[in-house]
Amino acid sequence: MAERDEDWLRQCVIDAALDLAYTGLSPQMSGNVSARCEGGFLVTPSGVAYTDLVPDDLVKLDLEGNLLDGQLPPSSEWQMHTGIYRERDDVGGIVHAHSDYAVSLAVMHKDIPAFHYMVAVAGGRDIRCAPYATFGTAALADHALSALEGRKACLLAHHGQIALGETVEDALHLAHEVETLSGQYWRALQIGDPPLLSDEEMAVNVEKFRTYGRRS
Ligand SMILES: [Zn+2]
Repeated sequence: MAERDEDWLRQCVIDAALDLAYTGLSPQMSGNVSARCEGGFLVTPSGVAYTDLVPDDLVKLDLEGNLLDGQLPPSSEWQMHTGIYRERDDVGGIVHAHSDYAVSLAVMHKDIPAFHYMVAVAGGRDIRCAPYATFGTAALADHALSALEGRKACLLAHHGQIALGETVEDALHLAHEVETLSGQYWRALQIGDPPLLSDEEMAVNVEKFRTYGRRS
Protein backbone atom coordinates (compact mmCIF):
# COMPACT_ATOMS: atom_id res chain seq x y z
CA MET A 1 0.00 0.00 0.00
CA ALA A 2 1.43 3.33 -1.00
CA GLU A 3 2.23 5.95 1.62
CA ARG A 4 -0.50 8.20 0.27
CA ASP A 5 -3.02 5.43 0.93
CA GLU A 6 -1.99 5.25 4.58
CA ASP A 7 -2.28 9.02 4.89
CA TRP A 8 -5.77 8.77 3.46
CA LEU A 9 -6.66 5.96 5.90
CA ARG A 10 -5.35 8.02 8.82
CA GLN A 11 -7.64 10.87 7.78
CA CYS A 12 -10.60 8.45 7.49
CA VAL A 13 -10.01 7.33 11.10
CA ILE A 14 -9.74 10.95 12.28
CA ASP A 15 -12.96 11.84 10.43
CA ALA A 16 -14.81 8.94 12.07
CA ALA A 17 -13.45 9.89 15.51
CA LEU A 18 -14.62 13.47 14.99
CA ASP A 19 -18.03 12.15 14.00
CA LEU A 20 -18.21 10.25 17.34
CA ALA A 21 -17.40 13.49 19.14
CA TYR A 22 -19.68 15.83 17.22
CA THR A 23 -22.72 13.55 16.98
CA GLY A 24 -22.36 12.43 20.59
CA LEU A 25 -22.32 8.79 19.52
CA SER A 26 -19.57 8.13 22.05
CA PRO A 27 -19.33 10.62 24.92
CA GLN A 28 -16.09 12.25 26.11
CA MET A 29 -13.07 10.05 25.32
CA SER A 30 -15.01 6.76 25.25
CA GLY A 31 -14.97 4.45 22.25
CA ASN A 32 -12.33 4.06 19.56
CA VAL A 33 -11.87 3.77 15.82
CA SER A 34 -9.51 1.77 13.61
CA ALA A 35 -8.79 0.95 9.98
CA ARG A 36 -6.88 -1.96 8.50
CA CYS A 37 -3.69 -0.92 6.71
CA GLU A 38 -0.64 -2.53 5.19
CA GLY A 39 0.91 -4.80 7.83
CA GLY A 40 -1.74 -4.24 10.49
CA PHE A 41 -4.13 -1.48 11.49
CA LEU A 42 -4.30 2.15 12.61
CA VAL A 43 -6.15 2.81 15.88
CA THR A 44 -7.00 5.88 17.91
CA PRO A 45 -4.74 6.45 20.94
CA SER A 46 -5.77 6.22 24.56
CA GLY A 47 -6.51 9.36 26.51
CA VAL A 48 -6.72 11.99 23.75
CA ALA A 49 -9.96 13.87 23.04
CA TYR A 50 -11.17 13.16 19.51
CA THR A 51 -11.33 16.88 18.74
CA ASP A 52 -7.59 17.17 19.53
CA LEU A 53 -6.48 14.23 17.36
CA VAL A 54 -4.21 14.68 14.35
CA PRO A 55 -3.32 11.90 11.87
CA ASP A 56 0.16 11.37 13.36
CA ASP A 57 -1.40 10.60 16.77
CA LEU A 58 -2.82 7.30 15.48
CA VAL A 59 -1.07 4.14 16.61
CA LYS A 60 -0.10 1.45 14.10
CA LEU A 61 -0.10 -2.13 15.37
CA ASP A 62 0.45 -5.44 13.63
CA LEU A 63 -2.06 -8.29 13.89
CA GLU A 64 -0.27 -9.65 16.95
CA GLY A 65 -0.62 -6.31 18.72
CA ASN A 66 3.02 -5.26 18.33
CA LEU A 67 3.70 -1.55 17.97
CA LEU A 68 4.75 -0.57 14.44
CA ASP A 69 4.42 3.20 14.64
CA GLY A 70 3.21 5.85 17.04
CA GLN A 71 4.21 7.91 20.07
CA LEU A 72 1.06 7.46 22.14
CA PRO A 73 -0.39 4.35 23.83
CA PRO A 74 -3.05 2.64 21.70
CA SER A 75 -6.72 2.52 22.71
CA SER A 76 -7.21 0.33 25.77
CA GLU A 77 -9.33 -1.96 23.56
CA TRP A 78 -6.49 -2.68 21.12
CA GLN A 79 -6.90 -6.43 21.76
CA MET A 80 -10.49 -6.29 20.53
CA HIS A 81 -9.35 -4.64 17.28
CA THR A 82 -6.39 -7.03 16.89
CA GLY A 83 -8.58 -10.10 17.34
CA ILE A 84 -11.19 -8.92 14.87
CA TYR A 85 -8.69 -8.03 12.12
CA ARG A 86 -6.90 -11.34 12.66
CA GLU A 87 -10.07 -13.45 12.47
CA ARG A 88 -12.21 -11.50 10.02
CA ASP A 89 -10.87 -10.98 6.50
CA ASP A 90 -14.08 -9.14 5.61
CA VAL A 91 -13.34 -6.28 8.01
CA GLY A 92 -11.43 -3.14 7.02
CA GLY A 93 -12.74 -0.76 9.69
CA ILE A 94 -14.02 -0.90 13.29
CA VAL A 95 -15.96 1.60 15.40
CA HIS A 96 -16.52 1.02 19.12
CA ALA A 97 -18.90 3.41 20.91
CA HIS A 98 -20.59 3.89 24.26
CA SER A 99 -23.78 5.17 22.63
CA ASP A 100 -26.69 5.80 25.01
CA TYR A 101 -29.39 3.42 23.78
CA ALA A 102 -26.98 0.62 22.92
CA VAL A 103 -25.57 0.92 26.44
CA SER A 104 -29.09 0.92 27.91
CA LEU A 105 -29.86 -2.42 26.24
CA ALA A 106 -26.38 -3.80 27.01
CA VAL A 107 -26.82 -3.00 30.70
CA MET A 108 -29.86 -5.29 30.62
CA HIS A 109 -27.95 -7.99 28.65
CA LYS A 110 -30.52 -7.69 25.85
CA ASP A 111 -29.86 -8.86 22.32
CA ILE A 112 -31.62 -6.79 19.66
CA PRO A 113 -34.09 -9.28 18.16
CA ALA A 114 -35.85 -9.18 14.79
CA PHE A 115 -38.29 -6.39 15.80
CA HIS A 116 -37.47 -4.44 12.60
CA TYR A 117 -36.18 -5.57 9.23
CA MET A 118 -33.20 -3.21 9.52
CA VAL A 119 -31.71 -5.47 12.21
CA ALA A 120 -30.58 -7.57 9.22
CA VAL A 121 -28.17 -4.80 8.17
CA ALA A 122 -25.80 -6.22 10.82
CA GLY A 123 -25.73 -9.51 8.93
CA GLY A 124 -28.19 -11.76 10.74
CA ARG A 125 -31.56 -12.25 12.41
CA ASP A 126 -30.44 -10.44 15.60
CA ILE A 127 -27.66 -8.32 17.08
CA ARG A 128 -26.21 -10.21 20.01
CA CYS A 129 -25.08 -8.86 23.35
CA ALA A 130 -21.67 -10.25 24.37
CA PRO A 131 -21.23 -11.25 28.04
CA TYR A 132 -19.48 -8.83 30.35
CA ALA A 133 -15.71 -8.80 30.80
CA THR A 134 -13.43 -6.08 32.17
CA PHE A 135 -12.65 -3.36 29.62
CA GLY A 136 -9.33 -3.66 27.83
CA THR A 137 -8.92 -7.41 28.38
CA ALA A 138 -8.37 -10.37 26.08
CA ALA A 139 -11.51 -11.89 27.65
CA LEU A 140 -13.62 -9.01 26.36
CA ALA A 141 -12.02 -9.37 22.94
CA ASP A 142 -12.93 -13.09 22.92
CA HIS A 143 -16.52 -12.39 23.98
CA ALA A 144 -16.87 -9.76 21.26
CA LEU A 145 -15.48 -12.08 18.57
CA SER A 146 -17.97 -14.79 19.54
CA ALA A 147 -20.93 -12.40 19.54
CA LEU A 148 -19.81 -11.08 16.13
CA GLU A 149 -19.82 -14.53 14.52
CA GLY A 150 -21.79 -14.14 11.30
CA ARG A 151 -22.50 -10.52 12.24
CA LYS A 152 -21.05 -7.05 11.70
CA ALA A 153 -22.13 -5.60 15.04
CA CYS A 154 -22.79 -6.57 18.63
CA LEU A 155 -23.54 -5.05 22.01
CA LEU A 156 -21.12 -5.47 24.92
CA ALA A 157 -22.78 -6.04 28.31
CA HIS A 158 -22.45 -3.11 30.74
CA HIS A 159 -20.26 -1.37 28.16
CA GLY A 160 -21.38 -0.36 24.66
CA GLN A 161 -21.40 -1.53 21.07
CA ILE A 162 -18.96 -2.45 18.32
CA ALA A 163 -19.56 -2.18 14.58
CA LEU A 164 -17.51 -3.56 11.69
CA GLY A 165 -17.32 -2.61 8.02
CA GLU A 166 -15.37 -3.14 4.84
CA THR A 167 -14.19 0.43 5.47
CA VAL A 168 -14.14 2.64 8.54
CA GLU A 169 -16.92 4.73 6.93
CA ASP A 170 -19.07 1.59 6.65
CA ALA A 171 -18.35 0.74 10.29
CA LEU A 172 -19.31 4.25 11.40
CA HIS A 173 -22.52 4.10 9.40
CA LEU A 174 -23.40 0.77 11.03
CA ALA A 175 -22.60 2.07 14.51
CA HIS A 176 -25.12 4.86 13.96
CA GLU A 177 -27.63 2.30 12.67
CA VAL A 178 -27.13 0.11 15.77
CA GLU A 179 -27.78 3.13 17.97
CA THR A 180 -30.94 4.01 16.01
CA LEU A 181 -32.22 0.42 16.27
CA SER A 182 -31.36 0.32 19.99
CA GLY A 183 -33.42 3.47 20.57
CA GLN A 184 -36.33 2.15 18.55
CA TYR A 185 -36.29 -1.22 20.33
CA TRP A 186 -36.02 0.51 23.71
CA ARG A 187 -39.10 2.59 22.88
CA ALA A 188 -41.06 -0.46 21.71
CA LEU A 189 -40.21 -2.21 24.99
CA GLN A 190 -41.93 0.65 26.86
CA ILE A 191 -45.23 -0.39 25.23
CA GLY A 192 -44.84 -4.13 25.64
CA ASP A 193 -43.12 -7.19 24.25
CA PRO A 194 -42.69 -6.47 20.52
CA PRO A 195 -43.74 -9.20 18.07
CA LEU A 196 -40.78 -10.36 15.97
CA LEU A 197 -40.24 -11.11 12.29
CA SER A 198 -39.82 -14.79 11.44
CA ASP A 199 -36.46 -16.40 10.74
CA GLU A 200 -37.60 -16.92 7.13
CA GLU A 201 -38.41 -13.24 6.68
CA MET A 202 -35.13 -12.17 8.29
CA ALA A 203 -33.22 -14.55 6.01
CA VAL A 204 -34.77 -12.72 3.04
CA ASN A 205 -33.73 -9.37 4.51
CA VAL A 206 -30.19 -10.54 5.24
CA GLU A 207 -29.83 -11.70 1.65
CA LYS A 208 -31.17 -8.40 0.30
CA PHE A 209 -28.62 -6.45 2.36
CA ARG A 210 -25.87 -8.85 1.37
CA THR A 211 -26.47 -8.41 -2.35
CA TYR A 212 -27.42 -4.76 -2.64
CA GLY A 213 -27.51 -3.39 0.85
CA ARG A 214 -24.70 -0.90 0.57
CA ARG A 215 -25.79 2.61 1.48
CA SER A 216 -26.43 4.90 -1.44
ZN1 LIG B 1 -15.41 0.93 25.52
